[in-house]
Amino acid sequence: MSKCAIVGINWGDEGKGRMVDLLTEKYDYVVRFQGGGNAGHTVVNEFGKFALHLLPSGIFRKGVKNILGNGVALDLENLYDEMQTVISQGISITPDNLYISDRASLLLPWHRDLDGLEEARLKDKKYGSTKQGIAPFYSDKFQKKTILAGELFYPEHLKEHLKDLIEWKNLTLTGVYGAEPVKFDDLWKWFEKYGEFFKPFIKDTGRVLKEADKAGKSSLFEAQLGSRRDMDYGIHPYTTSSNTIAAYAPVGSGIAATKIDEVVGVVKAYSTCVGEGPFVCEWFGEEAEELRKAGFEYGAKTGRPRRVGPIDIVATRYGVECQGATAIALTKMDVMSYMEKIPVCTHYELNGEIIDYFPFPVALNDCKPVIEYLDGWKSDIGSIRKWEDLPENARKYVEYVEKAIGCPIKYVSLGPERDAYIER
Ligand code: GDP
Repeated sequence: MSKCAIVGINWGDEGKGRMVDLLTEKYDYVVRFQGGGNAGHTVVNEFGKFALHLLPSGIFRKGVKNILGNGVALDLENLYDEMQTVISQGISITPDNLYISDRASLLLPWHRDLDGLEEARLKDKKYGSTKQGIAPFYSDKFQKKTILAGELFYPEHLKEHLKDLIEWKNLTLTGVYGAEPVKFDDLWKWFEKYGEFFKPFIKDTGRVLKEADKAGKSSLFEAQLGSRRDMDYGIHPYTTSSNTIAAYAPVGSGIAATKIDEVVGVVKAYSTCVGEGPFVCEWFGEEAEELRKAGFEYGAKTGRPRRVGPIDIVATRYGVECQGATAIALTKMDVMSYMEKIPVCTHYELNGEIIDYFPFPVALNDCKPVIEYLDGWKSDIGSIRKWEDLPENARKYVEYVEKAIGCPIKYVSLGPERDAYIER
């Protein structure tokens, strides 16, 4: 049955959580397939406002099964805290609506420590990590030096595996960073607390999804961040340490050979970027502050002010390509209502040449944005629910972007609330 991925086209924070929350109504399963607790989805619905980091956004819908796939950085400590917060707001989370893959690797306390230690060592050359341990976690995963969630069911084996890992990890902690070594007894207490709590949630989720598919159930795959942060296709090294693209959804969900039918790419009507790295269309000063305030552009996890600028067609077209997007959700159109003229970065200028392709990451430092302006609509569009009711200039903006990026814009979002959108 139908399989749809919802992914970020650019730097992340495009409003994926809001779109997943809306679309979950049509799906039986919602799956997170990569990333960890390092970024946040903001969801506003009838239960309140939530900042989700690891929980799939389908958690608010009755009857929806939510899955954390094998590709995620399974941070049990953060997940536990997040669950308690969401439960305290009246949402039920049980082994009946949250399944965790037995093949997901565990993000351990030392990953968070190592993230902080390495950013401190890098000083002013830091990558802008959120210090949630994601990069050290994925490096260990690729070295096969992690514990899988399913190992919690084999305590004797787990103890031996953990002892080996501690011996290895302490070489780095003490020898490279001069930090305190980890003691087995301390870490075992951590396993007893979180391991016991989460055991009932852990399953072979690949099998669950395959059986669901056979039974005609539909699945939604929810990505974190955007394609500019993809480890292979993003702005290396200012990327995350996993694949944020739709092509990874089947791999990170335990159904590697399955085809995704629809890829909804989420694009913000202007650009934002959190953290370090090249950001060609960046605005500074008052112009930036005005847009930041209008869009409330502060990080969901860190509260950091986001870097802002006009929509970047070059980057967005590349993002559409990387994601294989079949439809676009254009979010935060309402935020731009204050603008007299709507700026659009149509091309880059690189060493005197006008280019329309997204260049090699190092070359981005030498790119300058080429800006064109469209007429603004200067009216509040937040309560409009029909395409034909949008001001003509707002429609022209949507049509302009659609043509420039080469992908149909199916949804136009005009507010954070669930129903504040237009479907075309
Ligand atoms: P995500 O990680 O892609 O889900 O994005 P974030 O949650 O970090 O950021 C999106 C923010 O924009 C959230 O605070 C949403 O509630 C909000 N949002 C999403 N769509 C819209 C929209 O169309 N208009 C407005 N004003 N806010 C929106």
